[in-house]
Amino acid sequence: MGALKAVRILKRSIDARQRNIFVNLKVRAYVNEQPMDDEYEPVVYHDVSDRPQVIVVGAGPGGLFAALRLIELGYRPIVLERGKDVHERKKDLANISRTQQVDEESNYCFGEGGAGAYSDGKLYTRSKKRGNIEKILRVFCQHGASTNILADAHPHIGTDRLPQVIEAMRHTIINSGGEVHFQTKMTRLILRGERREVRGERSVFGVGTQVIGVEAEVYPLTSHLSPLTSKTFLGPVILATGHSARDVYRYLAEAQIQIEPKGIAVGVRLEHPSMLIDQIQYHRKEGRGQWLPAAEYSFVTQADGRGVYSFCMCPGGFVIPAATGPEQIVVNGMSPASRGTQWSNSGMVVEVRPEDIQCEQMRKEKGEMRNDGLLRMMAYQEELERDCWQQGNRRQTAPAQRMADFVNGRLSFDLPKSSYAPGLVSSPLHFWMPKSIVSRLQQGFRTFGRQAHGFLTNEAVMIAVETRTSSPVRIVRDAETLMHVQVEGLFPCGEGAGYAGGIVSAGVDGERCAEMCAQYLEKNG
Ligand SMILES: Cc1cc2nc3c(=O)[nH]c(=O)nc-3n(C[C@H](O)[C@H](O)[C@H](O)COP(=O)(O)OP(=O)(O)OC[C@H]3O[C@@H](n4cnc5c(N)ncnc54)[C@H](O)[C@@H]3O)c2cc1C
Repeated sequence: MGALKAVRILKRSIDARQRNIFVNLKVRAYVNEQPMDDEYEPVVYHDVSDRPQVIVVGAGPGGLFAALRLIELGYRPIVLERGKDVHERKKDLANISRTQQVDEESNYCFGEGGAGAYSDGKLYTRSKKRGNIEKILRVFCQHGASTNILADAHPHIGTDRLPQVIEAMRHTIINSGGEVHFQTKMTRLILRGERREVRGERSVFGVGTQVIGVEAEVYPLTSHLSPLTSKTFLGPVILATGHSARDVYRYLAEAQIQIEPKGIAVGVRLEHPSMLIDQIQYHRKEGRGQWLPAAEYSFVTQADGRGVYSFCMCPGGFVIPAATGPEQIVVNGMSPASRGTQWSNSGMVVEVRPEDIQCEQMRKEKGEMRNDGLLRMMAYQEELERDCWQQGNRRQTAPAQRMADFVNGRLSFDLPKSSYAPGLVSSPLHFWMPKSIVSRLQQGFRTFGRQAHGFLTNEAVMIAVETRTSSPVRIVRDAETLMHVQVEGLFPCGEGAGYAGGIVSAGVDGERCAEMCAQYLEKNG
């Protein structure tokens, strides 16, 4: 008879649909043998210091995974990031609540690790390409994430653990001979060829950058830009600048590099006491108890022909100020590894399609709309974020309303305690947010309240406004080569280019762009 020596968990999920809650495990049992030490085979990163270089713009998950894959393939990544390193960045995040000011280059979206660094670190995706996803998870583990993420059905790293993982990735890039430049903002592509429609007639051979935080008056008499304030980097370009780099979209539109408007979803962050969500989801008055994790939920419905759904749910988390510039309020959510705060939040958003936004009307109202409305979805986001800032007393204090009051069209006399550090101000969201969003959210909340008894409650608070659920623009690329349809050597990548929505899918897209860029270099020397 064999002796059981060890058991390793391969998959873990919780089934809480009934009163009896099941933890489903898929395990591998080791009979008469011990498991090997490693739960996965680590990637080997060789020295690429004398290899051809590729410029990777943006150090979010898209850019970082592109850089690591380039090293695997024998190319030297030069990573350019407008924000600060992951530790310096933390101070600027703390400053938002303290001073009510947002640093335009270092915030919850910009800086090492991108929007993924101080995010929730949920690592699940609706993408179906399992092999690619597992590779991304293994690379995270190799850089310090818990190997639990390889087994959990809903893997999660946590905002408190992500910075160390991202820093370890940077060390791999530098130790392999790559470069990482912080506070270095791409301001233009260096292009060869005229403005033409057909690919092959324009190509990119580098980028021009501005070095942030260096005084410009080094050469005041000659009025030349100092080499300290502007640098160029040469090579093909993987452009992974995320969905908040509005200056990049404006530049592309101006330079007639093909982009198109893309559908988005906008709404609010909805925050409940986590105990209430645990009680609803686990069907137990005592909540999750000692052993169960903070409960998750996911809702989706249709209202007047558009999707209304919960997005990026953060059990036991915080609502955070995610603006990237002055005169904006944007909220988002995250949670620590323990998921132990007393609140659970999610984005509650309504789908908005390009045809929903009247291009002519926007042009008239804003006066500045150009490029046949290519940037109209972005202008729509900007307008909402600015309205929100005005409603929030022109600070980062966010306008908010109790959930049932919103559904019933009543101003909230007071607000519940919230995790949103800059503070809340009571505001009639039902009155000033766009009618098309308000009425769909009201319908959606009624539906969700019927599906989950107790969910539609005045104990929950809606915090405005959630606009950055995805990119408002697609940077158009060839489906096979992943190269821009007009510009050779340019690889639009990740969420900002409109090809990913989340950390893992941005990582997968980063790897694919690196592979296609390597093929391009093999062909073109
Ligand atoms: C608070 C929050 C919580 C989130 N939680 C989750 C979650 O739990 N799970 C999940 O899957 N997703 C989550 N997301 C979304 C996820 O972070 C993004 O989908 C992902 O980071 C996109 O990766 P990316 O590399 O394409 O872009 P980004 O992460 O946005 O990275 C783009 C990078 O490019 C840099 N950049 C921009 N312009 C320039 C320029 N001109 N020059 C140089 N650098 C530039 C930016 O500073 C940034 O670092 C969250 C996002 C936020 C804000």
